[in-house]
Amino acid sequence: MYIPTQREHIMSLTNDQMNQAKDDASQFMFASMRRLATEYNMPELRHVSIQFTLRGNCAGTANKRFAPNGTPYYFVNLNEEIFEKGTKRDVELVLLHEIAHIMCFINPRLGKNHDKGWKRVCLAIGGDGERCHEINLTPARKRYLTRHIYIVNGHTIKLSTIRHNQLDKGLRLRCKHGEIKKSHYSETIKIAK
Ligand SMILES: [Zn+2]
Repeated sequence: MYIPTQREHIMSLTNDQMNQAKDDASQFMFASMRRLATEYNMPELRHVSIQFTLRGNCAGTANKRFAPNGTPYYFVNLNEEIFEKGTKRDVELVLLHEIAHIMCFINPRLGKNHDKGWKRVCLAIGGDGERCHEINLTPARKRYLTRHIYIVNGHTIKLSTIRHNQLDKGLRLRCKHGEIKKSHYSETIKIAK
């Protein structure tokens, strides 16, 4: 998994530009896979596929699944937001990062997760061996709101987590029913958005 850190680099792509960017990314990945299948004697790499359905704060993932007959197969899932918020080189670095994971899936002796072995593979195939990239993606939309329930003089008050934490740190809060105190806390609930 690839968790990016903050950077502002925002532009908007037309549909054509987005499709072109996906084509370029696919071409880059398939060409890399063909090259590495030969270099590392890993024929499985020729069958790795790519999809663009990943959403949320993660730029890419490497995935291993099993066909009904038990044969493993692999795919990279890319967050299309990186085409808008990252450079072409950023996209390539994400792909190389995920390809290194897949090579470790195929040959677990190479490495695991983001360990030294994985890093060695990532650097050897032209990646930067970094866990994180500086692409600022939109976090996955939360499906729930968290609210903290306080009972103030018989009235139910719902506080956000920010307010709840401020109160915990000693900030004095009032509502129309009086001062909200820590001792008024009842429970924390999730509300569907
Ligand atoms: Zn990773």
